[in-house]
Amino acid sequence: MAYLIGTAGHVDHGKTTLIAALTGIDADRLPEEKARGMTIDIGFAHIDLDGIGRVSLVDVPGHERFIKNMLAGASGVDVAMLCVASDEGVKPQTREHFDIIRLLEARALVVALTKCDATDDETQSIAELDVSALLEGTQFAGAPIVRVSAVSGLGLDALKLELARTMLRLGAREEEGGWFLPIDRVFTAPGHGTVVTGTLARGRVLPGSEGELMPGTKRLRIRGVQVHGSAAEFAEAGQRTALNVTGAKREDLHRGQAIGSPGSLVESQCLNVRVTPLAEIKHGQRIRLHVGSGEFIGKIHLFDLAPGFGQIRLEEPLACARGQRGVLRRYSPPDVLAGVEIVTPISKPRRKNDREVIELLTEQSDSAGIVDEISRRPAGALTSDVCEALGRTPQELGDDFERLKGQGAILGFAGMWLTQASYLGVAERVRAATLAVHEAAPRNPSAPKAGVLKESGLGWPPKSFDRLIALMASEGLIVLHGAEVRHPDFRVRLSDKQQALLDRILAEMQSKGAIAPSAREIGEALAVPPQAVEEMWRLGVATGRMIRVDEGLYYTIETLEEIKAMVKGLGERFTVADFRDATGSSRKYALPLLIYLDELKFTRRVGDERIVLK
Ligand code: GDP
Ligand code: MG
Repeated sequence: MAYLIGTAGHVDHGKTTLIAALTGIDADRLPEEKARGMTIDIGFAHIDLDGIGRVSLVDVPGHERFIKNMLAGASGVDVAMLCVASDEGVKPQTREHFDIIRLLEARALVVALTKCDATDDETQSIAELDVSALLEGTQFAGAPIVRVSAVSGLGLDALKLELARTMLRLGAREEEGGWFLPIDRVFTAPGHGTVVTGTLARGRVLPGSEGELMPGTKRLRIRGVQVHGSAAEFAEAGQRTALNVTGAKREDLHRGQAIGSPGSLVESQCLNVRVTPLAEIKHGQRIRLHVGSGEFIGKIHLFDLAPGFGQIRLEEPLACARGQRGVLRRYSPPDVLAGVEIVTPISKPRRKNDREVIELLTEQSDSAGIVDEISRRPAGALTSDVCEALGRTPQELGDDFERLKGQGAILGFAGMWLTQASYLGVAERVRAATLAVHEAAPRNPSAPKAGVLKESGLGWPPKSFDRLIALMASEGLIVLHGAEVRHPDFRVRLSDKQQALLDRILAEMQSKGAIAPSAREIGEALAVPPQAVEEMWRLGVATGRMIRVDEGLYYTIETLEEIKAMVKGLGERFTVADFRDATGSSRKYALPLLIYLDELKFTRRVGDERIVLK
């Protein structure tokens, strides 16, 4: 269990000095920062807290010009330490940072009222009131305010105690999915090669793991993991982490990218988000999106029919995961506009009055993502592809897939998924492919499934394709012939010889009525091998001249019509024995025939009797 503390507050309100007093570490690491005495980029330290252990600290710049860097540091902060100078009280960046902390959903807040060596009690009380007013009505109302001085050491122990107490109350963070780390620094270290650092945003990373760099999708190997300046067996979410990577050159790596376990992140330029606005957002407004350690330029489109949700289209791809929080700023001037939560990491451009988004976004985020991902793949989506795109595991999403299937929102075919709309498209492709196979072999009454699959170009696993064919057959879109299929409109073209043989077989069958002759019996009567009869049976079915009632049991259409007429003559109810006697057959024929008539819904079995339905 690791936690991250992050500073926040107006420039010169004593953040960096307080970190140094608490930890002995100067977080201003850049020469320019030391020269100017001002934090420009994020800095890092760590602190040992009673009952908690070693905790990472991120120090951020307070100056408004460096808000972009502040945003990179504030992402993933568990406990925000808002520093407010007791002599100045709440200032513009106190508010702005506070807004950012809220929108990024830091889990707790502790306020440090700084420079208390230089102010009297009354001034401090006024500043405290100022701070309380700022917190009121937010999730951080009533957060502890600790009076401190980095100069005299006043309140430093009380502040540490308050931080530790806050963390003990927090408990574990909710998280699912593989590890990932938004990169905030890249450098080469002697003897180590390329090193990237960042706050591990999710999961646990071990040395030797495989990683994926995004955007750019490049495989990397994690050679070593460092936490708080020394080699570690692993780093976990919330820790400032340094990864020693191989597989990418330093020039290929920069802040704003992320590294994660393969599949934990997606690369996207179009994402759907839940929006928490602070200011008015205009449809189509140009914005800066801050997610992880990066800033990305794009536009926000709001959905009329799903209030509180919008779509962000970016000029460049970003690496992200579902559930990640971000901040939107106006393009210019860059004021904070809103907080966002990524609901659909990869979406497609949707109109603002798109009806589908209501269901997609407002119902259940996971389900929305699944349906969206499946509809993005009109030729079928593999479970693994959908999960990868959503940055989730099949185990996590299994129930959602099943529920959506139960609702009829998606159709499942042994690991392959379609929406209702894409099913129609795919079915049409399969029918066209079947016709093409028939065309190539017009003497074959049916087409082998494997050939149709190949012709369709769908590239589905055979097992999934079997399921698809089964559904299509049940809807009459295709006709099943054992392992082969036939387009319902296709009629095999028989040669003259075949036609002559078929006619003779039909006549022979016709003459036997309900006592259907076997292939051997027909063969003997006509002096042809039984295999030839079986072959002609298939052709007879394919040409619509006869019907297969059971294994090896075929009847001509005419005979079946005669049997149906005879059944009608039996009255409303009859038994198997009545039927057997009326057809002059035996149970061997009577039972399969009756089952066939039941399936046709011509008759229905009620106890020992059957009633005539038609
Ligand atoms: P930051 O911009 O919030 O990081 O502020 P700094 O830590 O750089 O401090 C800004 C100025 O305030 C520096 O000149 C510090 O010496 C001064 N300062 C910081 N903490 C204290 C404090 O506790 N007491 C007094 N008297 N001055 C402080
Ligand atoms: Mg500073």
